[in-house]
Amino acid sequence: MNIARVALDLPLHRLFDYLIDGLGPAEPGLRIRVPFGRSEKIGIIVSLPGHSDLAPEQLKPALEILADTPPLPPDFFQLCEFASSYYQAALGEVLLQALPPGLKKASPAKRRNTKAKAAGKGVEPGPPRLTAEQERVLAAVNHSSGYAPFLLHGVTGSGKTEVYLRLITAALERGQQALLLVPEINLTPQLEARIRQRFPSVPTAILHSELAEAAREREWKAAFLGQARIIVGTRLAIFTPLPELGLIVVDEEHDASYKQQDGMRYSARDLAIYRASLGKLPIVLGSATPSLESWAHAQTGRYTLLSLEERAVSAARLPAIHLVDTRRMALSEGVSPPLQDAIRKRLEAKEQSLIFLNRRGYAPVLGCTACGWVSRCQRCAANMVVHLKDQRLRCHHCGFELRIPRACPTCGNQDIHPFGRGTQRLEAWLTETFPTARILRVDRDSAKSKKQWEALLQQIHDGSGAERVDILVGTQMLAKGHDFPRLTLVGAVGADAALFAADWRAPERLFAQLMQVAGRAGRAELPGEVIIQTEYPEHPLYAALRAHDYPSYAATLLTERRQAGFPPYTFQAMLRAEAPQMADAIDFLKAAVALILPENHPEVLLYDPVPMRLSRLWSLERAQLLVESASRPSLQAFLATWREGLETIKSPSRLRWHLEVDPLEF
Ligand code: ADP
Ligand code: ZN
Ligand code: ZN
Repeated sequence: MNIARVALDLPLHRLFDYLIDGLGPAEPGLRIRVPFGRSEKIGIIVSLPGHSDLAPEQLKPALEILADTPPLPPDFFQLCEFASSYYQAALGEVLLQALPPGLKKASPAKRRNTKAKAAGKGVEPGPPRLTAEQERVLAAVNHSSGYAPFLLHGVTGSGKTEVYLRLITAALERGQQALLLVPEINLTPQLEARIRQRFPSVPTAILHSELAEAAREREWKAAFLGQARIIVGTRLAIFTPLPELGLIVVDEEHDASYKQQDGMRYSARDLAIYRASLGKLPIVLGSATPSLESWAHAQTGRYTLLSLEERAVSAARLPAIHLVDTRRMALSEGVSPPLQDAIRKRLEAKEQSLIFLNRRGYAPVLGCTACGWVSRCQRCAANMVVHLKDQRLRCHHCGFELRIPRACPTCGNQDIHPFGRGTQRLEAWLTETFPTARILRVDRDSAKSKKQWEALLQQIHDGSGAERVDILVGTQMLAKGHDFPRLTLVGAVGADAALFAADWRAPERLFAQLMQVAGRAGRAELPGEVIIQTEYPEHPLYAALRAHDYPSYAATLLTERRQAGFPPYTFQAMLRAEAPQMADAIDFLKAAVALILPENHPEVLLYDPVPMRLSRLWSLERAQLLVESASRPSLQAFLATWREGLETIKSPSRLRWHLEVDPLEF
């Protein structure tokens, strides 16, 4: 009697045995089609145990062993087992989420031949001569051996990407595959183009969640079969089995999009570190504003710190950053006279300006001054945002929409107003104030698809004559990794809001955003200027920004975190529950607390259950419970036992809960 022990995509922490007599050769790592309930599922064979604890009559025969790909390799299992235990997720869920959707279908579509794209026409501009700083970084990584984690801290425009390309070249020359993780591929079409241009004949796989199913399967297979030598992908690409992996690069390693926000809430950056240690590989985490977690590791020597302090193009200096104190100034639609003057000067010089406001829509809320009504979402504890262009009120959390009412829905007052300011409102004001300027708004409303975004980028880039763009208005979409050669002015409006936000990570994020967006100015020969409007010009965040001094600001924040007992000096997990009634969510969390005797876990601290800040979403009430420990192993041990207990709590049928390890948002 031959038996396969199979992982299935279920939130159950167990495996399933099936009979496989007569199905041909079986091997761990092959996919298998099995009956499950009244339907069928695709699973992964984890082992061939020889016998089962189940009585023979309880064992069902499997239907088919799928051998259209080689078996998934042992290091793939190790990575998934680690993720499963670290994030308290069922192994089956982890293993199956790692496969492209097409390989998980019980009735497989006809598979086509797989060949990685070796595209990239056009002339390759000879790679530039490296600067001395770049040479040093390259040598450090290329001369490392075994597991070697590096943090590459380089100001914007210092040539980090160029370094990645050279590291990839070296890996290819050693006959190895290189994995480059990027935060959001759609935001960086330029990077993809640069890789294809530099390596026109090297098969490259691109992996992200927005690929069509067939393309995703094709790219994944090319990577897994070793045909693709360069793999560029978003967080999900960290799970791709790569037989000859020799290098991992994590670009913009501080970016929050490395964190998966539903299902298994993993950090692709942290898994990349584990994967490098497992495979005894060099790994480079790169950023102009590293996460404090990585920066702290670089300070203790756990990661080797490498720095690029100069811009790579010798003429390109870092932009001068000016603060404009707006406390005693008359602003027009939030824009100060100095910023207006600066924009005007750029218009005269035919240079480009970028006004950064990290809030899309026309205004964040519509309100009635007579009765105090505000445009709340019916489903969420949030305001509906005014979108004047299409006359809609729209909830940015759940997508709920209404037509903008003509009068106040509660008192009938016709005098209702949008309060506050978003990118559309700023755009409208700029259009009025600078009637001859060509103005382009860039946010998730104007760049919904990859195509739209690429078209906008193209326009920003090389528009000339009547097509040229004079003023860009946009959200952080504009902050990421683009070279805009004619951009010489960046203005930041409304940044202060994040200084005093309830989320203690907000200043870290604000600093990174402003540094990134400031880094867009003056990338080519033209010098850049950055104007930040603030009512808190003496705030240390702005002082560090003016000095382009990430290290000193990071040191300040780390001191604060140590004193407050926040990560990276403590380790956290969050238990969240949602239900139609808040009381049910809170009761579940209370029951979770009652599961444990504090004296059995002296090193772990459980906070009180509280409603989440966005306490209602999609008509569900949400509450959370923070767990904290100064010791990661203690926290891990605690979570493993706790999770088993959580599964036994009786709760109303519409209650959902999940556990998140290393939460980023509160
Ligand atoms: P980062 O990724 O740090 O923002 P990039 O690698 O994109 O920096 O480099 C910024 C600009 O400098 C790009 O236009 C790039 O082509 C150029 N560059 C990079 N390295 C060099 C070099 N050694 N010599 C000349 N130009 C360079
Ligand atoms: Zn009213
Ligand atoms: Zn909503």
